[in-house]
Formats: sequence, structure tokens, C-alpha cells
Amino acid sequence: MLRNALIAIALLFGSSTVFAAENCSVELQANDAMQFNVKEIEVSRSCTEFTINLKHTGQLAKNVMGHNVVIVKSSDMNAVNADGMKAGLDNNYVKPNDERVIAHADVIGGGETTSVSFDASKLSETESYTFFCSFPGHATLMNGRLKLVP
Ligand code: ZN
Repeated sequence: MLRNALIAIALLFGSSTVFAAENCSVELQANDAMQFNVKEIEVSRSCTEFTINLKHTGQLAKNVMGHNVVIVKSSDMNAVNADGMKAGLDNNYVKPNDERVIAHADVIGGGETTSVSFDASKLSETESYTFFCSFPGHATLMNGRLKLVP
């Protein structure tokens, strides 16, 4: 009886936690065909911490078809991507301490997951933001808009 009550409480607590997290997090999937599953991510400006959970749904290794997600001002994407390529896999294809990078996740391979969080209040409503994969050659296909919403 007590055990059942505890399970009920755990379920209740678990579901409300998931609900709260849903508003300030998103699952982003990347696959072996060099694609993200969404073209736009909406970030509520009320999120002190917004989390992107990145999941590689493919099977290829990270040195062959690795994926990450990098958040930048749209106007910075090409330059950040070029510097990231030079930085190499050891640096997750992101130039160390690149001040143009708002947030980035590590490069992962097939079957792996990772996440990256950032403070939404750092984003401006008048700026255009892009999320992209900085693995060499991926950014052209693997990019989308990150939009701040009320
Ligand atoms: Zn990629």
C-alpha cells in the first residue's frame, strides 16, 4: 500500500517535471542523411535556461557523420563554421572561446545523445539566430532558425 502510494507520487512528480521542462527544452534529432528533424526552434523569452537535447538517430561514427548544434547570430554562421572546421573534431568543430558562439553541444555519433543549455534572456528580439551543425560540410543542409517568442 505504501509502496503504491510512493509510486503514485513519483509518477505525479515525474509528469509535472516533464511538463515544466517541455516549455524550455526541445529535442532535436540528427540522422545519417545529414539532416535535422526541425527547421525552426522557438525559445520562450521567459526561459532562464533553455535546453536543446540533441539525439543522433543514425548509426555512423562521429568522425564520419558526427553532429553537434551551434547557436549563433545568423550573420555569424559562415565565419563561425569556417573557424570551427579548422578547430577540428578535438574541439567539437568550434573554435575555442569563440565569443560569437552563444552555445554549442559536443559532436556525437550514431545512437548518442547530448544537450546544451543557454540563458534565453541573452537573446535579443530584434536579432536573427541560427542553429547549425559545424561538422565539416554539414552546415549547408543542417541549419535552421532559432526564434525568440513571448
Ligand atoms: Zn552534422
